[in-house]
Amino acid sequence: MKPSPAPLPALAQVTQLQLVLAGVWISTAAVLLGTLGVRIVRGVDLLQWWVPLSFVLGVAAADLASGLVHWAADTWGRADLPVIGRRFLLPFRVHHINPDDFIRRRFLDTNGDVAAVTLPVLIGLLQLPLAGPQAALAVFGLGLCAFGMMTNQIHQWAHTPVPPPAVRGLQRLGVLLRPDDHAAHHCGAYDRHYSITTGWSNRPLEAIRFFRLLEIAISRSTGARPRADEEPFVEGSRHASSGVRSRV
Ligand SMILES: [Zn+2]
Ligand SMILES: [Zn+2]
Repeated sequence: MKPSPAPLPALAQVTQLQLVLAGVWISTAAVLLGTLGVRIVRGVDLLQWWVPLSFVLGVAAADLASGLVHWAADTWGRADLPVIGRRFLLPFRVHHINPDDFIRRRFLDTNGDVAAVTLPVLIGLLQLPLAGPQAALAVFGLGLCAFGMMTNQIHQWAHTPVPPPAVRGLQRLGVLLRPDDHAAHHCGAYDRHYSITTGWSNRPLEAIRFFRLLEIAISRSTGARPRADEEPFVEGSRHASSGVRSRV
């Protein structure tokens, strides 16, 4: 008789308080983003050449930032570190072993943390006068925050077997991360295609071996080994630990 396979790890359910807080972060960020958008529409001549360019550069920066954050979480640190390990690194470790666990997470659970990070950026952007180069910075920030705060949701849609039709259309157009682009990350050693907002930066960063060269530089200067936590986590997650439960 064959032994039954080990249960897959999954993130623990969030509490009601965490859901309420996530709702506060998301609704506040949405109001601030809307306020910034209205302010720009009223205060900036939208027909100027630099307006669409600044917005698109902001969206591209959001994608690049998603790649850098994802790479850092996948590559360095340990999932059992206090606070940062459980809150920030563990979800990425679990996601590699059990991608389906991400799909079951609800909207508030999925998007609350990123919305909270976006809040101080939006508050700063709302202080900018809409004249000269600072107007371009405000438009850049609008693109950055609009797509940046949706990063986890866009990532989840890339894993969803049947996303909403409008989302599927935007994925096909390349405006949102395409499932086949993100699948390249989940093949092999999880060491490529880290960007998860639009996915635009994945191919250029691969072409110049950006993350490999960065890892070599960090390893040489610190002695740390990239992805050193991946194997111990896979082993450790078989024995359900704090913050992880075994799926039954
Ligand atoms: Zn990853
Ligand atoms: Zn994924």
